[in-house]
Amino acid sequence: SQNSLSVPITLPNGIKYEQPTGLFINGEFVPSHSGETFKVLNPSTEEKITDIYRADVADVNTAVKAAKNAFDNHWSQVDPEVRARGLFNLADLIEEHADTLASIESMDNGKSMICARGDVDLVSKYLRSCGGWADKIYGKVMDTGKDHFAYSIREPIGVCGQIIPWNFPLLMWSWKIGPALATGNTVVLKPAELTPLSALYAANLVKEAGIPAGVVNIIPGSGRVVGEKLCTHPDVKKIAFTGSTVVGRNIMKTASDTVKKVTLELGGKSPNIVFADADIDKAVENIGHGIFFNSGEVCCAGSRIYVQDTVYEKVLQKFKDYAESLKVGNPFNSGVFQGAQTSAKQVEKILAAIDSGVKDGARIVTGGKRHGNKGYFIQPTIFADVREDMDIVKEEIFGPVVTVSKFSTVDEVVSMANDSQYGLAAGIHTRDINKAINVSNRVKAGTVWINTYNAFHQNVPFGGFGQSGIGREMGESALDNYTQIKSIRMALENNQV
Ligand code: NAD
Repeated sequence: SQNSLSVPITLPNGIKYEQPTGLFINGEFVPSHSGETFKVLNPSTEEKITDIYRADVADVNTAVKAAKNAFDNHWSQVDPEVRARGLFNLADLIEEHADTLASIESMDNGKSMICARGDVDLVSKYLRSCGGWADKIYGKVMDTGKDHFAYSIREPIGVCGQIIPWNFPLLMWSWKIGPALATGNTVVLKPAELTPLSALYAANLVKEAGIPAGVVNIIPGSGRVVGEKLCTHPDVKKIAFTGSTVVGRNIMKTASDTVKKVTLELGGKSPNIVFADADIDKAVENIGHGIFFNSGEVCCAGSRIYVQDTVYEKVLQKFKDYAESLKVGNPFNSGVFQGAQTSAKQVEKILAAIDSGVKDGARIVTGGKRHGNKGYFIQPTIFADVREDMDIVKEEIFGPVVTVSKFSTVDEVVSMANDSQYGLAAGIHTRDINKAINVSNRVKAGTVWINTYNAFHQNVPFGGFGQSGIGREMGESALDNYTQIKSIRMALENNQV
């Protein structure tokens, strides 16, 4: 337990900052009701960074009350330009604090600074884009005959419970908060226990941006307690979740008692296809980026690679060279692309998956072990000689581990790609535009990247087919998650001309 609500921290690259450690409720940092705290570790060193207050049910109730009050009496009522201004200010502040935020993210999550800087860049761009949408939430006028006037408007939903994972702590924070605020909702957000630091730091920026008290509340705590309470609280009208498919299913169930609107961004096992006519060097870079970006802790990681038989050996050799040349280690060292996995549990899970691949008879082309003996690092790992029914081809590993399979025809690879419960993303590498479009049309995935991978953009919707989720984030589509349509039809009198 601790008394102060912030601690001074010196980041591994020397930047000094003040880390808030309280819950952010109604515009202030406060201790948890219970006074309990939990440890936050640096996954690159396995050392403790600080203790953070742990929210429980009582804190959820306080936060929801603040959010409901802010919704009813202020944020849902203000002019759209007020909401736009708040988001524009927040985007500017994120940009101003980008170095600190990226460094916090690297320290807390283990991701390389290269990845963390990319995250923060997209955070400010996305929040600015949401500010732009705030005054463009349009309804429609429907022609229902001359005796009536009918139109629809889009209203905010209310208090939104938002539960986010540890792989992109600040980016997921922005994907949740941005569209909710743009459309006039208020939020209670629960960061992952493993990575609460950037969300709390950015809470200060929310305040500085002039976004009123209660509009954004941040309460770190466990999924079982805080997450479930958000899903059952009658004053929470919507749940947005990013994380594992297992928890996503559970959230749908717990949110069903109060029939909350639910959007889910879940797991994946995304296929990344290399045709023989691709620019091979570029394709190898893209499949490498597709799996090793963010240490493989990416829901849309291109974790199943399919290479056309005539170039299979060549691609495998070049891919092996690529993986072996990747700089792995201290995320703050220059040139390091792959940092640490986020937790010891994740390392165990990844090593167990590698074991299962070996037991099933797959061949390790490179990697397969921990990297170094301190910190949660794993060697970039490539499996070849896999069968499509092996667990390493079927199950999400969520680490720098990838399988490479061979195919000969378009039909064959389309059916291999679609043989999955998931459908988050897919990659296609070819110079043939007809093949690119035809295969995109046939692949069951919410996002298809052609001759690129993990190429997110704030204007492009992202989300899953199948068991990869419900709803789309970013772009105009994200507004649908946070608005409900009200239809108004009025009888007209004296309308004879
Ligand atoms: P998780 O799904 O358990 O955690 C995500 C968030 O959900 C966290 O904030 C957690 O506290 C919360 N949560 C957990 N149980 C909950 C419950 N019963 N009700 C409400 N909220 C709950 O993910 P994890 O255990 O941290 O990771 C396990 C696996 O999930 C990973 O190995 C990976 O396969 C997958 N994962 C996917 C994503 C993604 O972006 N799709 C992100 C993180 C993890």
